Amino acid sequence: MTEQLRYGSEFAFELRVCYWAEREWPPAGTLGDDTVALVARQLGTKRRRWDTIVVETTREALAQRAQFGAKRLDDDLRALLRSAPDQWRYYRDALPEPDYPWRYVRETIHEADDRGILDVRKSGNRIEIRRQQRYPDWVDRLVAIENKPDLDASAASALQPQLERDVAMGLADEAWVATRATDDVVSPVLFEDLPVAAGVLELDPATLSSSVAWHAGTLDSGSFGTRITDRGGADSSFDRSAATFEYVPADRKSTLRYRIAERAYERGWRSFVDTMRHDCRWFGARERDGQALPWCDSYCRVQTASECSASCPAFEPEPPAWRQHGWPIEGGPGRRIKQLLAARRARTRGRKKS
Ligand code: SF4
Repeated sequence: MTEQLRYGSEFAFELRVCYWAEREWPPAGTLGDDTVALVARQLGTKRRRWDTIVVETTREALAQRAQFGAKRLDDDLRALLRSAPDQWRYYRDALPEPDYPWRYVRETIHEADDRGILDVRKSGNRIEIRRQQRYPDWVDRLVAIENKPDLDASAASALQPQLERDVAMGLADEAWVATRATDDVVSPVLFEDLPVAAGVLELDPATLSSSVAWHAGTLDSGSFGTRITDRGGADSSFDRSAATFEYVPADRKSTLRYRIAERAYERGWRSFVDTMRHDCRWFGARERDGQALPWCDSYCRVQTASECSASCPAFEPEPPAWRQHGWPIEGGPGRRIKQLLAARRARTRGRKKS
């Protein structure tokens, strides 16, 4: 029986969008010769998580970022690496006065030392630091994509407030909705009440052909944003209460953008396999257009990440022989797929796996 890969679930559609974005970004026009797109999934802030994130950067900036290792750099590490001097200096003289106790700065210095990304030495009872290289401003543009393969009227009305918040906040430079391509002359999604600044991308997950149904506007990511805390009566014809909001300073937005970009750098989009039961005997992969998609031999389809978990009723541990003597190479099929995806993830970061 010929296996038909269907992309019925949002998860399968999302993996295809990520793969398409990695190969084809941007939806319209072309990137500059030196510009690259780093793709990740399921990232965001405490309040908002996006399905797909695209970080536009340059090869040179990516190579500079790679010098700090594959692990993400948190806010404290980035602040330290940005302020560290290029000559040996006592850390309290070299760094700006923090608005928290210095002992936390010392913890960050020791962490950077352990990771080998900052030179640290003792001079008497003083800690001196020296930077190895400057942490680069490596994020040119951040693009947020919401994946809704079946964007009917009710899905669109649920999405509308989220997109309005994204546009008002302007954390990303562009906000898009990716939906399944239809045969209609005019995409049905254009009849929905979505913000005009949000772009609409139509994608056929089987062929990866795409078209832009509506172009995204450029959001003002460099200035303050507006966080809508309460939409008031916007969703009701009876409720006349006013919306409430707060301003978010530009430097706070910049911190959030780099926080997202660092996590995107570390995780990419292929890390989905880490949370799936690749130790299940039914776990496998199917290749489409060079993309390795997870595959469940029990369900005979691409399983979702939430299905492929400890609570899956069809889970069966892989045979012990698969784990012994590196059979047939280094474990069973699940482990090989994990290794393959990890190697591809490392390659997209422009560095060898570490
Ligand atoms: S049977 Fe369940 S746990 Fe095993 S691969 Fe399929 S979905 Fe995952």
